[in-house]
Amino acid sequence: MEAGGAAVGPIRPTAVEIDLAALADNARAIAGLAATSLCAVVKADAYGHGAPGVATALEAAGAVASFAVSLVEEGVQLRDAGVRAPVLVMGPSQRGGYAEMRARDLTPVVSDAGDLDELARVGPRALHLKVDTGMGRLGVPVADAAAVAARARALGLELAGVMTHLASADTDDPGEPGCQTWRQLDAFAGVVAAVRALAPAALRHAANSSGTMLFPSARLDLVRVGRALYGNGAWPADAALATPRRQAMRFVTHVAQLRHVAVGDHVGYGALWTATRPTRCAVLPVGYADGLPRRVTGTGAVVIGGRRCPLVGAVSMDIALADVTALPGVALGDEAVLLGAGAGPHGEDTITTAELAAWSGLTPYEVTCGISKRVPRVYR
Ligand SMILES: *Cc1c(COP(=O)(O)O)cnc(C)c1O
Repeated sequence: MEAGGAAVGPIRPTAVEIDLAALADNARAIAGLAATSLCAVVKADAYGHGAPGVATALEAAGAVASFAVSLVEEGVQLRDAGVRAPVLVMGPSQRGGYAEMRARDLTPVVSDAGDLDELARVGPRALHLKVDTGMGRLGVPVADAAAVAARARALGLELAGVMTHLASADTDDPGEPGCQTWRQLDAFAGVVAAVRALAPAALRHAANSSGTMLFPSARLDLVRVGRALYGNGAWPADAALATPRRQAMRFVTHVAQLRHVAVGDHVGYGALWTATRPTRCAVLPVGYADGLPRRVTGTGAVVIGGRRCPLVGAVSMDIALADVTALPGVALGDEAVLLGAGAGPHGEDTITTAELAAWSGLTPYEVTCGISKRVPRVYR
């Protein structure tokens, strides 16, 4: 600590709590179901859960075999946190980062044959080759995969894996043989045969969460799971899990002020809400700068004392308001749950990521990724 300075601990009681036991249980349940190697996707700061905290806990629990991130910088962050398991770097724009990847033992995903020369010159030896079977985003074309694999081999590189990414596994019907996911998996099978002729040990992988949960034959040698690991979303295969998956994230704040609003009075920017009965409002020290989407204005709710209370008025940068008229005993400092489970004298209730996403017109991914760095992550 610097002379004259004092460390300021959290004063504003707004935090994200990560249930590490839930994460480890989810990982074990998914790995058991998939019966293959589980690669935990922790890109984008583990979808907002905090990558160092999540990855070190999963590694310590022995719950996953490897990790995947998008950026070289994200891989370096995991190594700095002490993560020792294999780390796959999946995103584009790795050029200029290969020497660092070699130094930090990170495994590149190559999506472009033009990267091979630099990789062979300064990078790690082992790579995973990504093939575009229909996502239309990253990966070498199906028709080029065998030639790119041969070129990698000729340069002395090791093809440790061959992968593709599914575009529509979350919306496709697995019972529909012509759906995009089955077409992608068919195309990938052809690629795998060609690549494995050169590198028989190359790990084959295609499945994200929805691929893993809905398309068993997509599980192959490894599954890359993000969303399901964090306990966001539900799939029919959940019913087969030994332990139910749990949402790992709670987003909480506490009542900072209580106010009476008279009939006809308004609250918040734009006077978007008007009291039609004598109302008690709780002022919550959380806003869109923390990642409570402004678009929950008029639709959202929080759980206080175990009961759902509607958010009223516009969500602003630092403040949101809840109508707590129906909660007689509400007091300053009471916990208000924006995401996750809340319990109290009035019962218990849970706000799921999918629910908050639906209120705000976002995806569950955007909800957790959108919780800003201003909110401390607390690990339990
Ligand atoms: C993000 C990502 C995943 C994980 O997707 P989820 O839907 O969160 O399971 C898997 N593979 C790739 C290539 C990704 O970019």
